[in-house]
Amino acid sequence: MSSLLVRNVGELVTNDPTLGDGTPLGLLRDAALVVEGGRVVWVGPSADAPAADAVQDVGGRAVIPGFVDSHSHLVFAGDRSAEFAARMSGTPYSAGGIRTTVAATRAATDEQLTAHVARHVEEMRRQGTTTVEIKSGYGLTVRDEARALAIARAFTEETTFLGAHVVPEEYATDPAGYVDLVTGPMLAAAAGHARWIDVFCETGAFDVDQARTILEAGAAAGLRGRLHANQLGHGPGVQLACDLELVAVDHCTFLDDRDVAALGDTGTVATLLPGVEFSTRSPYPDARRLLDAGVVVALASDCNPGSCYTSSMPLCVALAVREMRMTPAEALWAATAGGARALARDDVGRLAPGSCAHFAVLDAPSYVHLAYRPGVPLVLDVHGPRPPA
Ligand SMILES: [Zn+2]
Repeated sequence: MSSLLVRNVGELVTNDPTLGDGTPLGLLRDAALVVEGGRVVWVGPSADAPAADAVQDVGGRAVIPGFVDSHSHLVFAGDRSAEFAARMSGTPYSAGGIRTTVAATRAATDEQLTAHVARHVEEMRRQGTTTVEIKSGYGLTVRDEARALAIARAFTEETTFLGAHVVPEEYATDPAGYVDLVTGPMLAAAAGHARWIDVFCETGAFDVDQARTILEAGAAAGLRGRLHANQLGHGPGVQLACDLELVAVDHCTFLDDRDVAALGDTGTVATLLPGVEFSTRSPYPDARRLLDAGVVVALASDCNPGSCYTSSMPLCVALAVREMRMTPAEALWAATAGGARALARDDVGRLAPGSCAHFAVLDAPSYVHLAYRPGVPLVLDVHGPRPPA
C-alpha cells in the first residue's frame, strides 16, 4: 500500500479542535498530512512530516475536508428552466411543478437516469463534495422508487427513500391509500436499497400524523429517519423530528421558540438549505438564532430540478455567510462536519488520523475565500471516492 504526503499546506482545516488552534475548525498553519489506503494516517506541522512514497506539494494553499452534502434529489429527468424563468419574471406558473418531473422520471430509462446522476455527482465532486446523500421521490410507484434507489446506491451509501415526497396524481382522491402503499409494498421494495427514510411534512404534502406513521414504518424496516419540515410555513414537523429523536430535520425556515429549544435539547441537526431561498427568492432561515441556542447546524444543497438546481456547496457557504450571518468558520464547519453529523458519520467531514482521506485543495490561502470570492471556482484538486465510470 503506498502512502502520499501532502505538504506545504498554508492552512489545513481538520475540524478536530484537539489538532489545531482549539477552535471547532481545528486550523493548522504550514501543515501536512499523510494518507494511506484511503485514510488519513498523520496530520501535523509540515516540518515534522514523516517520509512517504509520494509527495504532493500544494504550494501554501488551503486544504479543507471534502464537503458532506446531506440533502439532494439527483435521480430525476426533465428540465424545468421555463418554470424558473417564469417565477423570476413574476409570471404565475401553475402547470407542471413536481408532477412534471415525476412524469419525465417515470418515462426515462435506467441508463438515462444513471447517466444523469453520474453527471451531477461528478459536477459536485469538481466543486469539492466527496460525500452526498441522494433521495428518491420522483418515481412514486413501487417500481420507480426502488429503481431510483438502486441507481443512487451505485454512487453513495447515503440513499434515502422519499416515497412520501408528494401524493401522486393517481392517488389525488385517496391520500390514505397512498400512505398505505408507501408504508407497505413500496417500503418493502425500497428498504434493501436505502439507509434512510424521509417525508415531506408540509401543508399540501403529508401531515404530521402521516409523517409519524411513515417514519415509524421505516424504522421497523431498519431505516433511520430524517424529515423535510417547516419550509413554507410554521408546522409541527420539527417537533415531530425531535420527539422521534431523528438525526436531522431539514429546511427549518419557520421556527418558534419551542422548536429551537427542542432542537437544542435533542441534538437533532438542523440542516439549512439556503440555495432554496436564493432560487425561490424567499426569506432565509434564522441561522443565528439556532447557533446562539447551541443547535447543531448543517448546510446542504437540496439540489433538485424545482426549487434549487445548484450542486454547489461553495455557493451554499457564501449564501450562509452573506445572507444568514453565519461566520465563514461556522459555514465551513456546517458544510463539512455538520453534514457528517446530519448523516451520523464520524469518518468524513474531518481530517484526522483514522478519517477518510476525502479533501479538497483550494486555489486560495484560506477557506475564508469560499465566501470572500463567491462564484469563483476555487476547488483545484479533490481527493476522495471516484464515481463509477
Ligand atoms: Zn429536499
